[in-house]
Amino acid sequence: MRILVVEDEPAIASAVTELMTGAGHAADSASSGPQALEYAQVYPYDLVVLDVMLPGMTGREVAGRLRASGFSAPILMLTALDEVGERVAGLDAGADDYLAKPFAASELLARVRALLRRRDGERRPIARLADLELDPASHRVRRGSRAIRLTAKEFALLEFLLRHPGQLFSQERLIDAVWDAEFAPESNVVEVYIRSLRRKIDAGRRNGLIETVRGVGYRVVDPRARG
Ligand code: CA
Repeated sequence: MRILVVEDEPAIASAVTELMTGAGHAADSASSGPQALEYAQVYPYDLVVLDVMLPGMTGREVAGRLRASGFSAPILMLTALDEVGERVAGLDAGADDYLAKPFAASELLARVRALLRRRDGERRPIARLADLELDPASHRVRRGSRAIRLTAKEFALLEFLLRHPGQLFSQERLIDAVWDAEFAPESNVVEVYIRSLRRKIDAGRRNGLIETVRGVGYRVVDPRARG
């Protein structure tokens, strides 16, 4: 999943970002409301962790503007204990949950998991292509009768491709969708992950599901449709 952390205190911002990364997500950090709104327009976020007390524009305003622009991913607000008014206003403005500071890392991770699970159930049905099946709710992948074990990043990359069957994506586009904004674009990470995915899902098959279009990018294709 790709997560946006909106927090103006650098120590908290980096701690939360590291927690998200440690849980297998890609995480970007924005230190102000306007920056958060800008990021949300560019990258496909699955969840936003949003501090309430931000300079210039409050978290409540950020949540309201995100929702007004059609942003539908869950928003988890971080509030101080005495910010009850802001907390209520934030929930009214479109946040899904809140967590009071100071919070335990394990609780933040549990809230994030719960919000993503809820969203999975509501918005992310099982993805299928030929005899491959990917279930976001249980995090399971099968090809025919064979269960396939994927890392969090492999899973995210495969899910993104499966959601757009037949569509060709450049390495840059895949990095945008699955990795962080700060990721070095010249690295061959996509190539490495595609190779590893292919080994796992296409093992022993004559016709692979992942197709490389040399110099352009990658896509998943149903071998029966390839002709
Ligand atoms: Ca703050």
